[in-house]
Amino acid sequence: MIDLHLHSNKSDGSDSPSQLIDKALALKIKAIALTDHDNIDGVKEFLSYGENKDIIVLPGIEISIRHEPEREIEDVHIVGLNIDYNSTKLINTLKKQKDGRLKQKEQICTRLKEELGYNITYEEVKSIAGGHIIGRPHIVEIIIKNNPDKIKGKTKNDLFKMISLGGTAYVDREYELNFEESIEIINSAGGIPIIAHPGIYKVSNRSKFIEFCVNAGIKGIEIEYTYSKNRPFYNTEKAEWAQEYLPGFYRKLAEKFNLVKSGGSDYHGGEKGIKIGEANVPEKYLKDFI
Ligand SMILES: [Zn+2]
Repeated sequence: MIDLHLHSNKSDGSDSPSQLIDKALALKIKAIALTDHDNIDGVKEFLSYGENKDIIVLPGIEISIRHEPEREIEDVHIVGLNIDYNSTKLINTLKKQKDGRLKQKEQICTRLKEELGYNITYEEVKSIAGGHIIGRPHIVEIIIKNNPDKIKGKTKNDLFKMISLGGTAYVDREYELNFEESIEIINSAGGIPIIAHPGIYKVSNRSKFIEFCVNAGIKGIEIEYTYSKNRPFYNTEKAEWAQEYLPGFYRKLAEKFNLVKSGGSDYHGGEKGIKIGEANVPEKYLKDFI
């Protein structure tokens, strides 16, 4: 068994890159890939800790793509496997993207304070993030902590909506990779661009979407995935259906379009109760990566 989609504490996971390897070894997993969101900060540790151990470790990334509702691209992720983490182009692009996102979070805080009257500062949000990438959950945490009266009757979900695309406090990111640019940057770093968990996206036609991905330059697809434990299926009546139906559906498309097959658990540690290796990705997929 292998698992080609794992997150460490360099993005929003809870284990360090080395801990991921120790856990995978204990579970007798043959190969794992580190695919943190929009950064490769953990890759060096991951590769060096994995050296001379009884496991194959692959360097990777998971890039969040710019929203483009007119092309049905919403919350789409592309995984890049076997990337060269020393690629200057990749490093510079990720830095530019990260700076743009931090600026966006800062602007959202300003809008919350100055236009909507919330008691919040970016400095506070930054401090509770404690050195981790500042995200929407940190902003929501401060809103709740500092504004008990103002948020009466609002759910946590309402607050997330307020600071997300379409919400009153939302501010656009200045720099964000689009679908083709993300593929291009993964290619330029020698990696294989793979459409991550295709079954979770809101698209009008699943097959057409994969055809679009292929035409845009996607070379691989995640087949096995923990659909029943992830958005939008987790805790819904469709969970079981998704887990049964989607992998087979995408396997057929992978064969039709001659795509590299991949898969993974999307393990983040912690809450969801997902284990490394849980997606049951077959070892034979490895041939395309080693
Ligand atoms: Zn992921």
